[in-house]
Amino acid sequence: MVVGNWKMYGNLAWNKTLLESLVEGLRDYRNADYAVCVPTPYLFQAQAVLAGSNIAWGGQNMHQFEGGAFTGSVAPHMLVDFGCSYVIIGHSERRELCYESDPVVAAKFEVAVKVGIKPIFCLGETREEYEAGITEEVVARQLDAVLSRVGPDGLAEGVLAYEPVWAIGTGRGASPAQAQAVHAFIRERIAEQDFEVASHIKILHGGSVRVANAAQLLSMPDIDGALVGNASLVADQFIAICRAA
Ligand code: PGA
Repeated sequence: MVVGNWKMYGNLAWNKTLLESLVEGLRDYRNADYAVCVPTPYLFQAQAVLAGSNIAWGGQNMHQFEGGAFTGSVAPHMLVDFGCSYVIIGHSERRELCYESDPVVAAKFEVAVKVGIKPIFCLGETREEYEAGITEEVVARQLDAVLSRVGPDGLAEGVLAYEPVWAIGTGRGASPAQAQAVHAFIRERIAEQDFEVASHIKILHGGSVRVANAAQLLSMPDIDGALVGNASLVADQFIAICRAA
């Protein structure tokens, strides 16, 4: 599975060219699931261009409540209205810049599943945490927050994305071996609760996934796909990563 995360980039004209190029470039490829998570105002456009194609679309965030006085926020059912299959939950930029805590991320995961959207649940350690050697501790805490709220069966309704924060947007991603080790750790931790769920759940990798390193990362046994930021903004690059999957 390959998912593009456009972050806060794009405009109507530019999106149109990108989306149409993706439809064209991936038309004959069915080996993996493909999706793009676009800024909320462009969901209608993603829906219009991608409907009927083999590329799904989704949001990059949503509120954990189903409605209410939350100026500026987007409710889960609003993503449903625009045909979203996915929503990114707990991206490190939101954890860091919007102070999203583990319990909030867990609540969002739960409500996404409830409204029928697959959450793409992001987890990963910061550079300081990495350097302090506490990657497993951090990832376990983030995973447990969701697991304890929804249980293994609930977790199975979503997709995981391990993204070391120090690798995001830096052009210096984790090596395939480094990434594989943490992916395996995550899978083993899920297996402690439910072996079946652990063996079937998709764990994507993110953080400077590029054309140059995608195939190697995707060949690792516990890496089931990629969550792609920067490289998803360039049609040729995203298409090449999708084809590598
Ligand atoms: P990047 O972003 O590919 O630009 O590192 C990944 C992400 O933020 O999901």
